[in-house]
Amino acid sequence: KMQGVSGREEKILVSIRLRPLSEKEIAANESADWECINDTTILYRNTLREGSTFPSAYTFDRVFRGDCDTRQVYEEGAKEIALSVVGGVNSTIFAYGQTSSGKTYTMIGITENAVADIFDYIKKHEERAFVLKFSAIEIYNEIVRDLLSTDNTPLRLRDDPERGPILEKLTEEILQDWGHLKELIAFSEAQRQVGETYLNEKSSRSHQIIRLTMESSAREFLGKGNSATLVASVNFVDLAGSERASQAASAGVRLKEGCHINRSLLTLGTVIRKLSKGRHGHINYRDSKLTRILQPCLGGNARTAIICTLSPARSHVEQTRNTLLFACCAK
Ligand code: ADP
Ligand code: MG
Repeated sequence: KMQGVSGREEKILVSIRLRPLSEKEIAANESADWECINDTTILYRNTLREGSTFPSAYTFDRVFRGDCDTRQVYEEGAKEIALSVVGGVNSTIFAYGQTSSGKTYTMIGITENAVADIFDYIKKHEERAFVLKFSAIEIYNEIVRDLLSTDNTPLRLRDDPERGPILEKLTEEILQDWGHLKELIAFSEAQRQVGETYLNEKSSRSHQIIRLTMESSAREFLGKGNSATLVASVNFVDLAGSERASQAASAGVRLKEGCHINRSLLTLGTVIRKLSKGRHGHINYRDSKLTRILQPCLGGNARTAIICTLSPARSHVEQTRNTLLFACCAK
């Protein structure tokens, strides 16, 4: 547990979301080996086959069954943290899990629900003037690209002494309404896949961050030069497939052959483990682009939620267990 700047006990909110078996998995006669036995515990049902070499029950802040909808996952696993942005507090929501476990499905739904709530908040607070900005980036092979731009030039990351890490020339769109949000999400999804033969290939190796930045100030002070402006960001992070992290860990030889190692995913694991133990000592944010970019929204007073997505299928048990181990380290 960590102590917030405010003195409040802060910890990372860690949830698990088990998706249903897909139609393809059902057609292939896959069995579902994982079961959520209550709101906080997930159980491996097939211990006989595996022996007793790993625990069969895992407990987290919240566990969502296959039949939970994204609205519920948002409400109980992300809402409070995402909406801290309206009070001027930075935050980050991660989706972590192997490819095809439901990260994108979950993160898009959470982003949409959060934006709907933020619009609602803006409507109810006429005494303040708000500006809500949307940006989207991709980190692929430690190269950062602007997903709202058709220009493929990598973005440069610069450290500003006052404002922290800055992505130069990043496109920021002022979010107008619900339709505009849908348009921007669709545009950035399409950009993410440009030029890829296998659509899933790139998205499984790259991280996507949608960032909403909210600025607000009291209307009565507007233009009088003495208005205190609140500024904060919330990041929605759709991580690279976690199978990359376990491959990377055993890839010493292939590294030399130019195999892509996901440095950002590994560094994130280290940073999250340190944050969850309380932030005493050095935290290595600078070891990867992902953690450098997110640093102001991870450490300090910032709030963090992680939603780990799981496939229930027997054939995925190895990766599912790796994901649960990551989740255990984060809580
Ligand atoms: P990932 O981004 O982790 O690779 P996706 O989000 O693309 O995985 O999900 C893989 C497939 O499973 C998609 O077709 C998606 O619509 C479906 N899916 C994922 N999670 C759920 C869920 N909770 N309920 C129903 N379908 C889901
Ligand atoms: Mg995806």
